[in-house]
Amino acid sequence: MSDQKFDVIFIGAGPAGYVGAIRAAQLGLKVACVDAFTGKDGKQALGGTCLNVGCIPSKALLDSSKQFYNIAHNLPVHGITVDGAKVDLATFIGRKDKIVKQFTGGIGQLFKANKVTAFYGMGKLLKGNQVEITAQDGGKQTISATNVVLASGSVPIELPFAKFDGKHVVDNAGALDFTEVPKRLGVIGAGVIGLELGSVWRRLGAEVTVLEAMPDFLGAADADIAKIAFKEFTKLGLNIKMGAKLSKAEVKKDGVHLVYADKDGEQSLVVDKLLVAVGRRAYTDGLLAEDTGVKLDERGRIVVDEHCHTGVDGVWAIGDAVRGPMLAHKGSEEGVAVAEWIAGKAGHVNFDTIPWVIYTEPEIAWAGKTEKQLKDEGVPYKVGTFPFAAIGRAVAMNEAFGQVKMLAHAETDRILGVHMVGPGVSELIAECVVAMEFKGSSEDLARIVHAHPTLSEAVHEAALSVDKRAIHKGN
Ligand code: FAD
Ligand code: NAD
Repeated sequence: MSDQKFDVIFIGAGPAGYVGAIRAAQLGLKVACVDAFTGKDGKQALGGTCLNVGCIPSKALLDSSKQFYNIAHNLPVHGITVDGAKVDLATFIGRKDKIVKQFTGGIGQLFKANKVTAFYGMGKLLKGNQVEITAQDGGKQTISATNVVLASGSVPIELPFAKFDGKHVVDNAGALDFTEVPKRLGVIGAGVIGLELGSVWRRLGAEVTVLEAMPDFLGAADADIAKIAFKEFTKLGLNIKMGAKLSKAEVKKDGVHLVYADKDGEQSLVVDKLLVAVGRRAYTDGLLAEDTGVKLDERGRIVVDEHCHTGVDGVWAIGDAVRGPMLAHKGSEEGVAVAEWIAGKAGHVNFDTIPWVIYTEPEIAWAGKTEKQLKDEGVPYKVGTFPFAAIGRAVAMNEAFGQVKMLAHAETDRILGVHMVGPGVSELIAECVVAMEFKGSSEDLARIVHAHPTLSEAVHEAALSVDKRAIHKGN
């Protein structure tokens, strides 16, 4: 019944699966990759959530909306005024779609160049490392391999009282494709998606209200950074209500009627569109035949060990479908590591230095431990901070807000965490990750020559500030 045999089959062609597949092919293995994602043109679109409805399209819209916002809010200070600026939403969304198509198509070309065989359909792992593929028309075929890597990713969590209808109550995919700027946009969840996509539509003029159930803003970030970011988002006009628990979302003629409770009791709000972004869950629907032996944990994630192995001979799992942060680069690194382990090489993913970036304005980025985590763990630490307000380049750019905060061990000076909010921090964090990966100290960064005038001087000064010797601020 199985007519095609491979060394490795990846189920899922998101950043975990497609990157793993290419690496496995580079290592001389015969590789297949099965994916079911259908693009806007009705054809297979490789790249998973990230390329189709996640990282890339959201950044395209963030960049377009930032250009528009800057015309009214940042250009006048440079002495530049533009009258009558307008957004043509069809072009705005069309640009994003073109970028998505370019990149999803690019993966098809990379597969061809690396001799990865792509299959279009839903893959199901059967016992004995066989994969049954169900095509769009219901046709089935079975392929097999020595190793199968499950990379089925994640999907948005749906709230039972605010179900997605694709029109009024939407998930990330819906909020990337509005055909007009909603006058009133409600966002449930002040997490990464809520803040990024809420910013896009706010910058185009929507009144955006974000309801967040937790009392603390951006709980995973360092508290000082989260506090600064909250203030900046409020300046942008995001109306973020903390400790707000939604209990009802009813679609009526005049909009979506929300009922939520906060510290002052029951509240109501009417919006034109509602984006629900309360987290994502591992997607394993229809992925596993009953007798495969692959286990799921209490949150529905595929159980794996530190080598992404499921415990079933030749079956591995990576990316959003397993434990760890739901980030594209984390999944990709797991894909590479698994390919290398399968090929008998030394794969490796360092979970301690995975960078987080939120692409809002200002951007937020961090790697390593927060101050609270160090306190809770009883680790002795020193803190260095430096504000972008004292960085010449940031002032010249009229983006002098936010700061860099560095945490180093009190005795060894080893960098334990770096947290930033401000201009360009999505790029600045890379230097800190390198330093941390090499077990560097704050003194190491302090002794490195940083170009002047650049934003990277904020990292340099924060490193100097750990030892109370920052030059351009009082210590
Ligand atoms: P996915 O990308 O979800 O890919 C899984 C693929 O497998 C999909 O194509 C799916 O159709 C397919 N599939 C599932 N089951 C089967 C099956 N049984 N048979 C065949 N195919 C199957 N992360 C970042 O690092 N940076 C960002 O800026 C960022 N922005 C984001 C913005 C948004 C709006 C969203 C929603 C997410 C964002 N993420 C970002 C998260 C990132 O998209 C995910 O972490 C990443 O896509 C996970 O990769 P993956 O390969 O594990 O899964
Ligand atoms: P999230 O976990 O970032 O945020 C969800 C938020 O919703 C949390 O603050 C949570 O407290 C809140 N929440 C949960 N239930 C709620 C409820 N009933 N009412 C109100 N608030 C509620 O999740 P997300 O924003 O959906 O994003 C999912 C994942 O996608 C992220 O965790 C991240 O891993 C990934 N992502 C990454 C990026 C990036 O790297 N820049 C961008 C977008 C998404």
